[in-house]
Amino acid sequence: LEFCRVLPKIELHAHLNGSLSEKTLKSLGCLNKSVSEYQGLTSINNKIERTLHECFELFKIAHLATKNPDSVYLAAQSVIKDFADDNVRYLELRTTPRAEDGMTKEEYIESVVKAIKDSKKPLVKLILSVDRRHDILVSQNTVAVILSMRNKYPDIIKGIDLSGNPHLGCFDKELFNKAKENGLKTTIHCAEIINNDEVMEILNFGPNRIGHATFLNPNYSGSIENWESYCKKKIPAEFCLTSNVVCGTAKSYKEHHMQEWIKNGLPFSINTDDKGVFCTSLSEEYEHAQNNFNLSNTDLWTIAYNAIDHSFASIQEKALMKKELKEWKTQNQ
Ligand code: 5GP
Repeated sequence: LEFCRVLPKIELHAHLNGSLSEKTLKSLGCLNKSVSEYQGLTSINNKIERTLHECFELFKIAHLATKNPDSVYLAAQSVIKDFADDNVRYLELRTTPRAEDGMTKEEYIESVVKAIKDSKKPLVKLILSVDRRHDILVSQNTVAVILSMRNKYPDIIKGIDLSGNPHLGCFDKELFNKAKENGLKTTIHCAEIINNDEVMEILNFGPNRIGHATFLNPNYSGSIENWESYCKKKIPAEFCLTSNVVCGTAKSYKEHHMQEWIKNGLPFSINTDDKGVFCTSLSEEYEHAQNNFNLSNTDLWTIAYNAIDHSFASIQEKALMKKELKEWKTQNQ
């Protein structure tokens, strides 16, 4: 694990409320009962397997800890620090703006932006999520809020994501076209369950990145047409190994679909998804990849380096990160 820890890493797929550590949940106070419920349900103390449905129940508990602007700020601050401590040099944090208990979606976003501005490292950008279970009117409102907040913080808010329980709702092309036309980068959770029709729509839309991509390859119940289309488009995939293994969508680390990307030379990055819920870190995810796919230290460095190109950072920021990684490689060879 030592190499994976010291390697400067790039995290592109981390959901704020799924990333809260046990310590952070406790420090957010209010929720002793919920915290123990959370511990019972999560893999925090023992890596038990959960269904996708059970994982989604957990987020509801995490949401109880972030119901006002102050707790959202503290949650974002501590998640950013956790990633910095794990030697993550660039973080794309994503979160679903929530209006509740008198807090508006704008205030929710302001709190996360403030935590990002106040953090010295790593470099952090924000992706705002649309929850697929919401109806079209709620989602349209979310996109309008996201666009107005992006105009206020163009250096921080870079992209939009579609996430939430994949069994509910659907991908709405119009909504994401609006975001794209207005200059937001797009990343869509794709093929988390077998749904070849939706996968085709997402591929036709052409997001900048896709999340998970579990059932996209024909060896994993994907359609040949979709896979051929994907191979032409080469949209970078965001892989989250432990998340998929714990939720049971990947049978094991060894059988994870990432192997199809390695075999075919397709673009991907390694990420945590929900490091709190799945009790992991980015270093551990790199280690799983190394152990199960026979990757050398240089291969891991290359995966981190390539993730810079998949990121939503500016050209200048990418150039600086690449320089840093190259220097690190020279010093550590
Ligand atoms: P938040 O957006 O509240 O900061 O983070 C938690 C939310 O992220 C969950 O309620 C869910 O909508 C989304 N999320 C977290 N992990 C996953 C995942 O593995 N798949 C999907 N589709 N959504 C997820």
